[in-house]
Amino acid sequence: MKQYDPQMHTTEHILNQTMIRMFGCDRSFSMHLEKKKSKCDYHFDRPLTREEEQIIQDKVNRVINLGLPVSEKYVDMSEAGHLVDTSRLPEQDIHSVRIVNVGDYDSCPCIGEHVDNTADIGEFRITTTSYENGVLRIRFKID
Ligand SMILES: [Zn+2]
Repeated sequence: MKQYDPQMHTTEHILNQTMIRMFGCDRSFSMHLEKKKSKCDYHFDRPLTREEEQIIQDKVNRVINLGLPVSEKYVDMSEAGHLVDTSRLPEQDIHSVRIVNVGDYDSCPCIGEHVDNTADIGEFRITTTSYENGVLRIRFKID
């Protein structure tokens, strides 16, 4: 299991939830996170407008600036299905699932490392987005 940078990784949670809320899409199905720049891919039906990029960036920064606590809890697999989407979890021998909450903004199963509070992330900036063959790619940085 690759360990991602906690700042970037927590940002990915926030970005995913922002995409879900704005567009009703799924969480990113593929991503590449590095300390200074990252990209997330979404199944999507069109490119984003400049205005939408700006709105996403503003919303993510608003959540970061709220200083939300990031917490985790372990729940039974049977219970987890009521709380979060467990369809992409591996099935073998899982009895409990680690759920990561970013305040009350986002909740998803995850085994990675996160910041303790979104205030520790920094400023989120979308560098570019592109769209090809049903895939929207968002590239971003943290300053
Ligand atoms: Zn995570």
